[in-house]
Amino acid sequence: MGDECCNSGCKPCLLDPDDGDIPDLLNYIDGEFTTAASEEWLNDLSPVTGMRIARVPNSNEDDIDAAVTAARSALPEWAAFSREERATWLDKIADALEVRSEEVAQLESLDTGKPITLARSVDAARSIANFRFFAEQVREFTPETFEMTNATNHVIYKPVGVAGLITPWNLPLYLLSWKVAPALAMGNTVVAKPSELTPMTASLLAEIIDDVGLPAGVFNLVHGTGINAGSALTSHHDVDLISFTGGTATGAAVAASAASNFKKLSLELGGKNATIVCADADLDATIPGVVRAGFLNQGQVCLCGSRILIEESIYDEFVGKFLTAVNDMPVGDPSDPDTTLGALVSSDHLEKVMSYITLSQEEGGRILAGGNKPEGIPEQFANGNWLSPTVIEGLSPESRCATEEIFGPVVTLHPFADEEEALAIANATDYGLAGSVWTRDLEKGKRIAEGIDTGMVWVNTWLHRDLRTPFGGVKHSGVGREGGRWSLSFYSHAVNICLYDE
Ligand code: NAD
Repeated sequence: MGDECCNSGCKPCLLDPDDGDIPDLLNYIDGEFTTAASEEWLNDLSPVTGMRIARVPNSNEDDIDAAVTAARSALPEWAAFSREERATWLDKIADALEVRSEEVAQLESLDTGKPITLARSVDAARSIANFRFFAEQVREFTPETFEMTNATNHVIYKPVGVAGLITPWNLPLYLLSWKVAPALAMGNTVVAKPSELTPMTASLLAEIIDDVGLPAGVFNLVHGTGINAGSALTSHHDVDLISFTGGTATGAAVAASAASNFKKLSLELGGKNATIVCADADLDATIPGVVRAGFLNQGQVCLCGSRILIEESIYDEFVGKFLTAVNDMPVGDPSDPDTTLGALVSSDHLEKVMSYITLSQEEGGRILAGGNKPEGIPEQFANGNWLSPTVIEGLSPESRCATEEIFGPVVTLHPFADEEEALAIANATDYGLAGSVWTRDLEKGKRIAEGIDTGMVWVNTWLHRDLRTPFGGVKHSGVGREGGRWSLSFYSHAVNICLYDE
């Protein structure tokens, strides 16, 4: 297959004449691994070399229809399992994932370009934890009763039905397992459509699910593009629920499509999160925290603090120390355990991020660090998607670069005079996902946090997650909440049964 191209309209890809051993990933439908009905393929490219590392089925509405049909016929049996039985299945999947956790980390790093250390500590660890967590949650789940003087209300929770789960490329298995685990726990059957850019660990999950012997049709996986496979899933008349994580513009298309038959819908979308650094912050702890918030996963986390708001009395001191820390981050080979920043996911995405750096110059910004390809990238990685961590100051808080999601290793710096101005800047965007506040005064931190229009705010930390807490955004960052009991509620229908007893 070395010299053929899928002609799928993707960027020109580098086909290695010796890549005959690259894997063909398959769909998993009704307990069988299959190619796409069209027999067409997409190329999965390495972010660090630009070379093809796998092929994925270019699935269309026929594959989605087969998967939905399988999920529908598996539903009665799966829904009839007790919560304890379903929890035991989730634990089996978690155990099998744990055995293969190094493989999860290696594949995730290969597919996304993220550092292997991050893939181990975050992606692999959290994917396992998601299955264990929701097994525990569903075991402990106690439906409510409400007494009246002459009646008792029993609330029961029914599965919603066939769940369509669509996920992005930045945290592939972490986000897929965050949806699959609670969906299965509450008795739904699943059709998953992962990002076509990072399909590898979804295929590994299908393999694991097949190995542990989950009944056929309970979990189905369909690879492919958003426009073909994704939109066929969101518009399918026999899908009852869509949980979507991805960009805001895509989320709007998904919402419109899912509305046709009133599917239950959760949208976890983009962010442009503010990091507010107060003058009384402990800078020794704050600088590493703000650097991590800005650049983790090459800045490709929806929660990343890409707008850094600094109280003007400490602006110069903060910026000096911050730039030293940013310039110290090792960028390069993701398989090197010392690497902090790897490659961006695709050449298209790098181009988009670079276009914002160009725009920042037109908007009056000054680049204090980065903005270009890092030095010292080895020859074999010359075609990778590289960008140095980039820091820009001097932009108006209303500029496009300061209000639109860039989703790369790019942060903008903005001084503020007082709390009121900090909040005005923090809230001057259409997004409303997350934020963080850094101060020694926890009362003040909580007060500022309450004024930020987002779904989540951290004080003196960032991405410190308790899986029981609600996760989600406001404004253009999404609709609904997942996490803990919010996930169990989303993946079920609450039904009230009132027993009258005079
Ligand atoms: P994307 O919107 O391009 O794609 C996400 C998924 O949707 C992919 O699987 C894609 O194939 C599919 N898709 C694309 N078009 C579709 C359509 N018309 N119908 C159905 N499915 C379609 O997003 P991305 O570039 O993969 O991910 C980056 C975005 O995801 C960023 O905006 C980031 O902020 C967001 N994100 C949000 C969260 C969160 O929890 N809020 C978490 C991670 C990423």
